[in-house]
Amino acid sequence: DAVRAAFQAHPGEIACVITEASPGNMGVVPPLPGFNQGLKDACAENGALYISDEVMTGFRTSRAGWFGVDGVVPDLLTFGKVMGGGFPAAAFGGRADVMAHLAPAGPVYQAGTLSGNPVATAAGLAQLRLLDDAAYAKVDAASQQIQAMVSEALTKEGVAHTLQNASNMFSVFFTDRPVRNYEDAKGQESFRFTAFFHAMLANGVYLPPSSFESWFVSTAHDERALQKIADALPAAARAAAEATER
Ligand SMILES: *Cc1c(COP(=O)(O)O)cnc(C)c1O
Repeated sequence: DAVRAAFQAHPGEIACVITEASPGNMGVVPPLPGFNQGLKDACAENGALYISDEVMTGFRTSRAGWFGVDGVVPDLLTFGKVMGGGFPAAAFGGRADVMAHLAPAGPVYQAGTLSGNPVATAAGLAQLRLLDDAAYAKVDAASQQIQAMVSEALTKEGVAHTLQNASNMFSVFFTDRPVRNYEDAKGQESFRFTAFFHAMLANGVYLPPSSFESWFVSTAHDERALQKIADALPAAARAAAEATER
């Protein structure tokens, strides 16, 4: 509704809507069914581009990113992080007629220090070739296992929490209500995460340092790593239970 109101208030003035394909920068808050399609429709009706930021979800939530999960076709997509295979690389792409505006085909010049950097490109390509179905299955399974372990540990200590995931990305919110937007996310008991985080760190598990960040799982999370997480969880759940707001 807010996007439709903005289009109505500024007819012909809005070039594009840029949105995280599936938000992970306020914790994991996947779009409700129809949300991204609604944004795309609003853009199409108003002559604006629908740009999907897949920097976090790209090549992670599936080989085709979030686009591969929800199937809404953006006009443009952005990528980073996973696609570099650990090296600094980013990319954007999309509709052929929009991309044709870029030089040398068109008049829009785009360049940067690291644009097309050969080492980063080679590293990213090498990694993407290795990411077969088995690799995604392994990451998905490890993600589900960690989510189950976290929930079990927090439940045992009576800590109210909600786990949300977008494919193998997930985060834990310290609230018993579903989190649908930033307001909901801010309503959680973040002080419990602080205690939880530091207790995990004390036992060698380095979680994302904020309750507004996604937990990422990789192929490096093997049995030994999962065991280490399992061993650290009981004390961290207790710390979360005992935490008080300061
Ligand atoms: C990290 C991140 C970015 C920034 O990407 P850079 O390549 O560092 O500019 C943009 N969008 C999302 C969703 C991100 O997670």
